[in-house]
Amino acid sequence: MARILVVEDEPKIARFVELELTHEGYEVDKVADGRAGVETALAGDYDLILLDVLLPQLNGMEVLRRIRRESDVPVIMLTARDAVMDKVAGLDAGADDYITKPFAIEELLARIRVALKRRESASPAAEASMPPEPDHHVLSIRGVTLDVERHEVKVGDDPIELTNREFEVLKALMENRNVVMTRERLAQLACGYDFVGETNIIDVYIRHLRSKIDDRHGIKLISTVRGVGYVIRED
Ligand code: CA
Repeated sequence: MARILVVEDEPKIARFVELELTHEGYEVDKVADGRAGVETALAGDYDLILLDVLLPQLNGMEVLRRIRRESDVPVIMLTARDAVMDKVAGLDAGADDYITKPFAIEELLARIRVALKRRESASPAAEASMPPEPDHHVLSIRGVTLDVERHEVKVGDDPIELTNREFEVLKALMENRNVVMTRERLAQLACGYDFVGETNIIDVYIRHLRSKIDDRHGIKLISTVRGVGYVIRED
């Protein structure tokens, strides 16, 4: 059965999560500060880490960065309800998912299952059994090109540095050119699951994309459709 490390300094929450996960058949360890979190996560053979953001010794974001230097173990962040920037920073720093406190245990269990499954399907064995990629896949609209395989975006010849999630949002918009995309749909396409009620995170990615592409190159690539979502139009 999968092994899960819980890094959480609030004893009640840690205990509750431990009981529920154990009940589901997971093997659970828990630690209560950031430093122990890094050490235990890297020393143990865990299948998933549940990581609180506000921790003593070392905050969760720093814990995540240190884990990511050495390991691609799935990490689900536990964040405060309104901390949109924490969520963005967490995902950019390599978190696989996050869940806001207070959470329903069913939701946490569902997120854990998704993260574990995604890891399974991303394992080398699974990749080897997949058919080879078809032709090189490059999307191009109004001077902006996005190379899916190389994970590169350019405006003309100028390379644009994007985070993974920014890249995925842009790709979803470019693949669906001329279609107005809701925040929910973009969240699903860019992150692979429902962000139930958390879709304002998409606004943050759009803002980043506009500052990196539109503002820097004096173009207007992504349009806002008030009350609906976003679109890239081909004209
Ligand atoms: Ca905490």
